[in-house]
Amino acid sequence: MSKHRGVRMPMSRLYAPTLKEDPAEAELASHRLLLRAGFIRKQAAGLYTYLPLAWRSLRKIEDIIRDEMDAHGAQECQMPIMIDATLWEESGRFGAYGPELMRFHDRHDRQFVLGPTHEETVTDLIKNELKSYKQLPVNLYQIQDKFRDEMRPRFGLMRGREFIMKDGYSFNATQESLQETYDAMKEAYANICERCGIKALPVVADSGQIGGDTSVEFMALAEAGEAALVYCDDCGFAADDEAATTKVEVLDGPGDGTLTKVETPDCATIEAIASFFGVPQNATVKSLCLIDGEGRAVLALVPGDHELNDCKAEKVFGEYHLMTAEELVENGLVKGFIGPMNLPEHIRVVADAALRDAHKWACGANEAGYHFTGIEPGRDFEVDEWADLITVKAGDPCPHCGRPLAGARGIEVSQVFQLGTKYSQAMGANFMDEDGREKPFLMGCYGVGVSRTLAAAVEQHNDEHGIIWPVSIAPYEVSVIPLDPKKEPCASACDQIVEALVEAGLEVVVDDRDERPGVKFADNDLMGFPYQIVLGKRGLANGVVEFKNRATGEREDVALDQIVAKVTELVEAQRA
Ligand code: ATP
Ligand code: MG
Repeated sequence: MSKHRGVRMPMSRLYAPTLKEDPAEAELASHRLLLRAGFIRKQAAGLYTYLPLAWRSLRKIEDIIRDEMDAHGAQECQMPIMIDATLWEESGRFGAYGPELMRFHDRHDRQFVLGPTHEETVTDLIKNELKSYKQLPVNLYQIQDKFRDEMRPRFGLMRGREFIMKDGYSFNATQESLQETYDAMKEAYANICERCGIKALPVVADSGQIGGDTSVEFMALAEAGEAALVYCDDCGFAADDEAATTKVEVLDGPGDGTLTKVETPDCATIEAIASFFGVPQNATVKSLCLIDGEGRAVLALVPGDHELNDCKAEKVFGEYHLMTAEELVENGLVKGFIGPMNLPEHIRVVADAALRDAHKWACGANEAGYHFTGIEPGRDFEVDEWADLITVKAGDPCPHCGRPLAGARGIEVSQVFQLGTKYSQAMGANFMDEDGREKPFLMGCYGVGVSRTLAAAVEQHNDEHGIIWPVSIAPYEVSVIPLDPKKEPCASACDQIVEALVEAGLEVVVDDRDERPGVKFADNDLMGFPYQIVLGKRGLANGVVEFKNRATGEREDVALDQIVAKVTELVEAQRA
């Protein structure tokens, strides 16, 4: 994209009110830094103004998205944000969506909603106009504000009530065609992350019946992420730890396999038991007692080194809870010494499937101060049900290639989804197929959180001094910092450099303010321009300027007649 037009922005005119102190309400780096550096301002909970710097970056993200969408066969359009609620009644979502949906009446007392996403609008749009298989596939997208009255709007742009989304919808005649569009969108989404300088993993959110994925979330890796992930650096596998399943490694317990009751005073935890018997924690079995959704007592057994996963447990046990101290007593159980042997009859036993491979279990004896070793399921007690119960964690083997998985947290920046006929069927949107029969469209939907992408970029690129923009989405690519902006020779040298940079098509901020050098350096670091050119008296006397790379912190003296070429080359190489 070198048809770039250069821009010169004097800092004295730039509307970017910075804050000296960290705003108290901001926990995350992105929230804090975007406020401090004068990129955003809050109007009310979850409602933000994008100030000029943020807006420039957002427009660059949008341009990258447009470029990828257009290159992958999608067409941009713009639908109304206000949606007639009757469409939402047709799809059944008016009742189902919940309080996140902003609902209101117009002056004629007609019910409307503000679009949190536009499946209904776009389905209604093409209905009765897109008629034949010959016209398919069609893939429409828009970039606009979305509204969700989030219960807890927080973390600045990360979870707003009004936020910018690119949403796209495809209409396909066959599953093969839908798969093709979906794969193209997946590829485009991976490119978008990469071009925005965001390291993201495609995480399978939903698996189809035939084994392929039907929904993938792109997760930007960041400590601040709400999702816990496991991923494999070797084969590229990635999954939400709530959804991941893998064959975790379990070892046989201590002893020669004879059922033996052992006195284990003070061994009420897995750590204590493992060290008492001198075995790793995955050679022990953890016993958890819970009350399932129907009020029944259940003993859940999991490998000692893994946790019971709440999400998976809910699938097996319904709305369960772990037994309270009183409930343990009521059920005849002794905290710290629970196990499947001598278990009160009424308690059902459900074991994690990984434990099928383990023998000689070491478990509590249901008697204070005692454990059994050498327990053999099937021989010594019956497992009523085997199930997938545990949270996969870093170090577990990758389900695809067996290498150890890494753990990370992720921010969902985008998602692709095969909707099938959910909306077309509900809303009666059909086309005439090749065989002369009317069929509902197969649909896919594809969303990118544009403003969330901006926040995710800041989460990944910052340090104690502020933001560090990737060149591709930086509001300005270079800042020129004259230390004596009103004096010669600083003023003319600055002018010359800036003019040449602009001529070369670069976007330049000039810190022309009458401020101390320290203040200027701090502000420019905070705002995060990728490259800084500092003009000082001493350097100029020697024919050099100081060149600073914001990302690496490296500084070097560069000759006055070389600086423009050097910066231009660096910037052009990194534009998206
Ligand atoms: P989340 O699980 O984070 O609430 P979602 O899965 O409900 O998001 P989608 O319906 O998939 O969101 O919307 C597409 C994209 O829009 C998301 O991947 C995310 O990047 C962005 N997004 C969703 N909700 C918000 C929000 N409240 N603020 C900012 N961006 C959002
Ligand atoms: Mg989503």
